[in-house]
Amino acid sequence: MTMTASRPPERSTRADRLAQPTTRDAVRAVAENHGACLRPIQLRRTNTDTGEIDQVLIPCRSTLADVCPPCAERAKQLRAAQCREGWHLDTEPIADLRPPDEVQAMWVEHRAQAQADRDHVAQAGQDTAELDGLIGELDQELKRSGLRGKADPSRPRPRRQRSTRRRQDTPDLPKRKISPHTIGKTYTAPDGKTFRPSMFITLTCPSYGRVTDDGTPVDPGSYDYQRAVRDALHFAALFDRFIQNLRRVLGHDVQYFATIEPQKRLAPHVHIAIRGTVSRAELRQIIAATYHQVWWPAINEVRFDGDHLPVWDEARSRYLDPATGELLTEWDDALDAIGPHDDPMHVARFGAKFDAQGVLAGSKDTGRCIGYLTKYLTKQLGDCHHAETDTQREHVDRLADALRYEPCSPTCANWLRYGIEPKNPRPGLVPGACKGKAHRRDHLGYAGRRVLVSRRWSGKTLADHRADRKAWLTDMLGLPATDPASYRWEQVQPADEDYMPPARRLLHSVADRLRWQNALTEARRRAQDALGDELSAVGRAA
Ligand SMILES: [Zn+2]
Ligand SMILES: [Zn+2]
Repeated sequence: MTMTASRPPERSTRADRLAQPTTRDAVRAVAENHGACLRPIQLRRTNTDTGEIDQVLIPCRSTLADVCPPCAERAKQLRAAQCREGWHLDTEPIADLRPPDEVQAMWVEHRAQAQADRDHVAQAGQDTAELDGLIGELDQELKRSGLRGKADPSRPRPRRQRSTRRRQDTPDLPKRKISPHTIGKTYTAPDGKTFRPSMFITLTCPSYGRVTDDGTPVDPGSYDYQRAVRDALHFAALFDRFIQNLRRVLGHDVQYFATIEPQKRLAPHVHIAIRGTVSRAELRQIIAATYHQVWWPAINEVRFDGDHLPVWDEARSRYLDPATGELLTEWDDALDAIGPHDDPMHVARFGAKFDAQGVLAGSKDTGRCIGYLTKYLTKQLGDCHHAETDTQREHVDRLADALRYEPCSPTCANWLRYGIEPKNPRPGLVPGACKGKAHRRDHLGYAGRRVLVSRRWSGKTLADHRADRKAWLTDMLGLPATDPASYRWEQVQPADEDYMPPARRLLHSVADRLRWQNALTEARRRAQDALGDELSAVGRAA
């Protein structure tokens, strides 16, 4: 938005007056200009020591520019910061394991005692329900104390294991033992300088038929829409396989920051920042050997269509064939029926085409690549490339058609069409009308997360990165940290007396933002001053 310094003329015409923005629009524009959330949420904060009540407005934190442009932009910046921080790390982000603290040790001791008691009671043939309950609670306490994993991983066995669900075949790749380090190799140049290159890799889906420059098929009749949508549905799982294989070949716990976006032909592709490097030859070999087998029941035959659909039997909580009254095959039984000579329902692979480049810490390339990585994060997949021509619109339509009856998950309503009862069935399922995100036009078959970050990328979660920024600010300004334990927070509801309508919330949002920006300016000034002092101290010392 641009601001003009014009004042309305003394005697204005109706047209002049109408050309002025409404106050409401102006507030919105000013808010957007300052990066203030447009849909702030009102919370009531009660100081539990003093009983004092404040109204606090917090940003909506939407990641979509359609919903809240300032929040979406901030979310994107945070992702960029996360990406930058992990890419060229030269020390392991998560230090070696610490011994348990006293509280953790105490819970472990209780847990051990309970297990011994329980097994003793079980051996005597008595009822263990009470002790099992206690063990469950102690496991919760162990988790709450910050310990990861379980004391007895074999304990909860909710389902029987299915031996017929086949494992993924092992890819034909050199296999090294994976060492736990996550840092790439350091190289030393002849002049003694050391550098640690990282990489930017882009992987695509295979070809489904030739496409023109606008991303639409040359021959829509032979374009493999079914394969295209199945690859999109299982893209995240395929990416996972790739990372496993990459780690196996490189022999260390490779870390990544990846984003998934559509290409112009509307197939997903993935941009990956990895720490460390891999040669193009190795990469080509890994891509060729990477696939994901989908061991789902075959859907070659349409059994229910149009008005002839399975009906829900309330008493048995099952679907049955309305003509014969027979129950449909249950999901688990359908899986069991997959025999040793059957093929997987789908095998997802990457295309042979890929892009890979080395990126040095602090180089111009880093910023450019992070730009690529975060470019479309504020948009839904389906909104990244707008269909502008009829040909493009028809391409989107055909993709949506192909997705309509494709099962998106084990619980998808579409299984009914093929005579199989979806997992966890419930009434009201209609094939072709599954509510799963993957079927929607704004998702184009990919319903997973858009940003995939490995656990030891920066050793921090997004919330940690957000807290870093705040901590820096309060530190610079010398503000006391507030103790979260002494406050109670509640969301204010429209029926409450202190509820603020949206227009007033927006005004507060702008005011809060202005205050924050002033604080930021002040903190930056102080940081500069501190740096200046340091430099002049160095100058004096020299
Ligand atoms: Zn917002
Ligand atoms: Zn579905």
